[in-house]
Amino acid sequence: MAKPNESDHGGGRGRKVRVDFRPNRQERRRQKTLPPHLAEQADEIDELASPSWETVAAKGELSRKRTVVEGEEPATEGTAEGIVAAVRGLIADVEGPGGERCACTVRRVLRTLRIGERHPVVVGDRVRFRPAAVRGGSPPEGVIESVLPRRTRLCRATERETHLIAANVDQVVVVASADAPPLKPSLIDRYLVSASAGMMAAVVCVNKMDLDVDGYAAEVLERYRRIGYPVVGTSTVSGLGIDALRGMLAGKSSVLAGQSGVGKSSLLNAIQPGLKLRVGEVCKETAKGRHTTTTAQLLKLEAGGYVVDTPGVRAFELAMIPVSELEAHFVEFVKHVPGCKFANCTHTHEIGCAVLGAVERGEIHPARHASYVRLFRERSGLVPMGEEVEEEHERR
Ligand code: GDP
Ligand code: ZN
Repeated sequence: MAKPNESDHGGGRGRKVRVDFRPNRQERRRQKTLPPHLAEQADEIDELASPSWETVAAKGELSRKRTVVEGEEPATEGTAEGIVAAVRGLIADVEGPGGERCACTVRRVLRTLRIGERHPVVVGDRVRFRPAAVRGGSPPEGVIESVLPRRTRLCRATERETHLIAANVDQVVVVASADAPPLKPSLIDRYLVSASAGMMAAVVCVNKMDLDVDGYAAEVLERYRRIGYPVVGTSTVSGLGIDALRGMLAGKSSVLAGQSGVGKSSLLNAIQPGLKLRVGEVCKETAKGRHTTTTAQLLKLEAGGYVVDTPGVRAFELAMIPVSELEAHFVEFVKHVPGCKFANCTHTHEIGCAVLGAVERGEIHPARHASYVRLFRERSGLVPMGEEVEEEHERR
């Protein structure tokens, strides 16, 4: 697959070549059989569903050859690559290669293709868009023509469905507080599992370290550091760890996740004054019209990179993780699993379980194992799901 070129403005410098049409390609191009009402648009949908960046200039079954643009230049003429910085209803603000923002609509067929998804594009999506000619004084407008494959997915589960809330997030900063609200390592574990399942890296941040009178928070941080997570203790009151956290965010796309009241907004403002204030303004505006929900947006960091700001991240969940895969998301369990006596060991009670053995020898922290068992039982339907995050429902 040709790698999209970031600096490409769609000048079409690529060389057009004729290549043989591969009949079996038809099979692979889209996953599902299209419903009858989409039959007319099948070619266009195939093109959009194709993971490749080839520009199919000659469409249709009858064409024996396809014209593709070869090499570094996959662009359709007049389009540019950008990143979705905010979504407001059916309008997406796309940040172009030069950092300029362009209010884009989504090409009709792309909306149809992604019907059933709440939004055809989400914050963090890398898209190819066609800016319209800018008229004097009016804000630039454009059309999103295609969405690049999503590298990572940040999801939020409701009772029935899972919603994608952001794409291509590099890391989840799991934020807890030393106190007020009290520190719950089991909640940190939930977020770590979710991050891992969404293919995102994770950082453990314990804020309000000024309230860590008995050293428990420092001990918890050490626990996560030992199993390989980057950790940071912060205080927006004393300034502890703010520089370190800023460094961890630089050049990446991150999301801060954690219970309300732990200090996520305060941390963002400590890292970059004014960063989060803008969000407050937006929320006030949209509060008037109940129908306009600001789903999420990217906040640009001075040191490079973004923070994905989303109202729905607190309860981002592990709804889609099969119970058999849970062990894979507990990083320190992984090396022990092959030592279990039974291949289908659940590591909850079995004789000859190497994970339980490691817990007994003090190599795995009992609290981490307890978190695993709790999630395992939830996933198996033995106990109700999400007890601890349920109380975290959105304040909207
Ligand atoms: P969020 O809901 O996670 O965004 O939390 P906020 O940023 O709104 O902070 C919740 C409360 O915690 C506010 O009253 C803050 O002033 C307070 N707070 C934030 N950071 C700290 C800290 O490092 N130490 C202490 N003691 N309080 C803090
Ligand atoms: Zn086992």
